[in-house]
Amino acid sequence: MSDTVGRAVLSIDVELFDQTPAYRSASGITDQQGIGLNGLAWFRETLGDRGASTTCFVVSSLVDRYPEAIEALADAGFEIASHTHSHELLSDRSADERREELATSKERLESLTGQSVTGFRAPAFDITDDHFDLLAETGYEYDSSVVASRAIPGWYGGEYDLETPALATAVDPDAPAGLAELPASVMPGLRLPLTGTWLRFFGPRYTALGMRLLARRGITPVLYVHPWELVGLPQVEGVPARVYYHTGEWMREALTYILDQPFDFVTARSVLEDAVPGWTDQNRPADGPQEE
Ligand SMILES: [Zn+2]
Repeated sequence: MSDTVGRAVLSIDVELFDQTPAYRSASGITDQQGIGLNGLAWFRETLGDRGASTTCFVVSSLVDRYPEAIEALADAGFEIASHTHSHELLSDRSADERREELATSKERLESLTGQSVTGFRAPAFDITDDHFDLLAETGYEYDSSVVASRAIPGWYGGEYDLETPALATAVDPDAPAGLAELPASVMPGLRLPLTGTWLRFFGPRYTALGMRLLARRGITPVLYVHPWELVGLPQVEGVPARVYYHTGEWMREALTYILDQPFDFVTARSVLEDAVPGWTDQNRPADGPQEE
């Protein structure tokens, strides 16, 4: 692996088409089931063939519907992290409901996989003022729900500047000790995200260029994909055209191009362990949440 220019995280937010805000708020419906599972299997096999690893931020209600698909991710050696239980926006929920989302998803994923679940990513990168307190209360050790994107009207961005792994206090000065943050990457200068919709709009060369520019600055690129982006989606009344753009085969080819870049693809947690030394030590003593 000495030919690489550094490490990168190509994480996957494990959710299906019927769990996306775009589908849930649409007027139409589809009776197709499991839209995205084939994409998830493709991604798992493609990474496995290359000896690459990743972190899977999993919507834990999928444990009830498709336990074998989630177990296969853990069996492949990937890190399992949480993407809530229901994939509802956290800011739409009460504090008690948010705590429940965090606690339930951790518990479900841990009991299915036997892995310790320490990472979390919020749906649509939507977090609330009590986010880090709730994460600490429910036993998480890191978050990856921040993008240092410029403000994008009708979308997100403009809230955060953090572009490198850090203690969560770099995002929120009142965040509890022992929590770390791994921000998703933006294009230097342009400050638009490197993946998600932006990868599908601008193409894999845009993403690969961003990865190299970050690596040159000593920053590990952190990217994300969704399984439903890797399959042909049924036309559903009210789902915006941008959701369909460059999904399916186009996206599989784009990801193959990204995986061909000279990076070692690793887990989110391993990047934080190296970049934020001693972060987990702060969880161990006294009254902090304890690992089982
Ligand atoms: Zn999501």
